Amino acid sequence: MRPSLLDPLFASLKALSGIGPKVEKLFARLLGRDDAPPRVLDLLFHLPTGTVDRRARPKLRDVIPGTVATVAVTIDRHRPSPPHRPRAPYQIYASDETGDLVLTYFSARRDYLEKLLPVGELRYVSGTTGSYDGTLQMVHPEHVVSEADLAKLPLVEPVYPLTEGLGLNQVRKAVDGALTKIPMLPEWQDEAWLKQQDFPSFVEALQHLHRPAELSDVRPESPAWTRLAYDELLAGQLALALVRAHQRRQPGRGSSGEGMLRAKVIAALPYSLTPSQGRAVDDIVTDLARPQRMVRLLQGDVGSGKTVVALLAAATVIEAGRQAALMAPTEILARQHLATIAPLAEAAGIRVAILTGRDRGRERSETLDRLAIGDIDLVVGTHALFQDEVAFRDLALAIVDEQHRFGVHQRLALARKGEAVDMLVLTATPIPRTLVLTFFGDMEVSELREKPAGRQPIDTRAVPLGRIDEVVGAVGRAIGEGHRVYWVCPLVEESETSDLAAAEERFAQLQQHFGDRVDLVHGRMKGAEKDRAMARFSAGETQLLVATTVIEVGVDVQAATVMVIEHAERFGLAQLHQLRGRIGRGSEHSTCLLLYRSPLGETAKARLNILRETEDGFRIAEEDLKLRGEGDVLGTRQSGMPGFRLAHIEFHGKLLPAARDDAALVLSRDPELKSPRGEALRNLLYLFERDEAIRLIQAG
Ligand code: ADP
Ligand code: MG
Repeated sequence: MRPSLLDPLFASLKALSGIGPKVEKLFARLLGRDDAPPRVLDLLFHLPTGTVDRRARPKLRDVIPGTVATVAVTIDRHRPSPPHRPRAPYQIYASDETGDLVLTYFSARRDYLEKLLPVGELRYVSGTTGSYDGTLQMVHPEHVVSEADLAKLPLVEPVYPLTEGLGLNQVRKAVDGALTKIPMLPEWQDEAWLKQQDFPSFVEALQHLHRPAELSDVRPESPAWTRLAYDELLAGQLALALVRAHQRRQPGRGSSGEGMLRAKVIAALPYSLTPSQGRAVDDIVTDLARPQRMVRLLQGDVGSGKTVVALLAAATVIEAGRQAALMAPTEILARQHLATIAPLAEAAGIRVAILTGRDRGRERSETLDRLAIGDIDLVVGTHALFQDEVAFRDLALAIVDEQHRFGVHQRLALARKGEAVDMLVLTATPIPRTLVLTFFGDMEVSELREKPAGRQPIDTRAVPLGRIDEVVGAVGRAIGEGHRVYWVCPLVEESETSDLAAAEERFAQLQQHFGDRVDLVHGRMKGAEKDRAMARFSAGETQLLVATTVIEVGVDVQAATVMVIEHAERFGLAQLHQLRGRIGRGSEHSTCLLLYRSPLGETAKARLNILRETEDGFRIAEEDLKLRGEGDVLGTRQSGMPGFRLAHIEFHGKLLPAARDDAALVLSRDPELKSPRGEALRNLLYLFERDEAIRLIQAG
């Protein structure tokens, strides 16, 4: 159970003054807590991205319009909005000995302003200045104080990422409230290490970041941020080490057999396995036969053929009379896995079913019943497989596709659905070797490094957006020759809505050229609609598919040979690689056109060049890390490590080895986290939501 000491941090944001149900919803969106109420801790981990510096105190003559300034002015007169035009601005004229300033308010109350800015008095006014008709202006000053209150004027204020409907001051005020809720926490880091790194305490770190004295205080490299990032890395490494230790203690149940079922599947394949597929299957079969739990990661680039390896793993436990589950991150992928697997399974006599959030009613309850009595050998699904109603007769193997979207705790949840469940994790995101341990430190690794035979290299070209007409022409020729084309629309950071608008606009334009051969698929569509669009494209009923990044993962249409990626410069390297992996899946020659807006920055240029040079996902991943390491800070969303809130590879990745060693050392001395430092580290695991691992200390 979570120590009650931490309760104030896990309290709902509604515990803070000024946050009611309505504002709470906005914070939920801001903090990415769509499913559960946002908590004080979520807000504290919402770190500033910059500061407003109010220390500049120019005379009016020296104010540079457009900058933030704090000026000392005498209030000369008020010019309220005329009574018949309440929407007209309320203006207040002020001055110092060097010039004039107009303070402008919209829909403000007169009595309030007369009190705030009394005629004849001196006021310190701080805000963003502008120039309007040659007059210096400040619209809605952010702070107005008298001489006596000058000390209350914040000199440097944090700037936070916001969401529509939520203002900066609301967030600041809420954060101020949250800061007062932090309890005294015993230090969980090693004191000597803290000194050596010059790290503040956890509480001080949060205070420094949310009440910065300098812009440099809110940079990811600052001691405060780095401290928190190290906390998070240590929590991650500790959790992995605990999971691993737990797994080692677990007796497994060996599943083995003659390999007859595998042989039947292989016989039904229209191709032969690549050498690395063969090795991966051997690894897995050996693991499965051993009386220990298997936890293996199968890493392979897009198109490297992981699905068939997964099916062969499933066949192994099914032959032993047990069941397997394959979980995909999206509905589309689950259905696609099913489509790939079904004919092979049928040939081998394996009974397969699907279970996703969309399956309801009779069919669903029938599937559940059949699973429970062992009438289904392999179930393919989405996270619907986690649900409580889902019970297996004897689940032996859980296969999780696209692992980075699921956390350790989801893996464990699936593992609890059976006795001694072996785990196979598939990931198409090539992860640099240096980072494998960060995410998968608890697993053995198999890699699929070569592509299935017969694949043609993809011709990748970068084309400036100005030449889009030529691109449309080329797309038309490709369609005319019977090829299938993906057109991926720009990623707009802030919102899914604007992604969609851009895609819809492009769709409408392309429709004018190609009529009903064009289709659109995007994230806002219902599951069934999306599947239908994919199915039409796959069947060739439509030939040009305009898409937002929903096609990013795993979708397999072999006839697709052309991909246009609009605003390629806005995508991360890994993401471009993933997208491109949708083509070049058959034996036909494929082309990828990276449309970019010129001029390209240095890093963007380097990124596109790497893509043109290589299709090796592992190399691309390494290069990506290097480029980011060289200071190309993408948006937080892209550069953050999946599953981590505060730690960023490019800034904090170098601390990983230390965190790993530290975790190993701690557990070697105190495997149950019972020493004073161990107790403190339990708090850390809760704070970064790696507490699932704590339960494993006792369990078996
Ligand atoms: P991914 O690793 O991206 O999940 P898939 O398992 O979807 O890749 O496989 C991609 C495509 O390659 C599928 O159409 C599959 O049938 C095919 N494939 C898999 N293995 C081989 C092989 N050894 N030889 C030829 N084609 C293969
Ligand atoms: Mg796949």
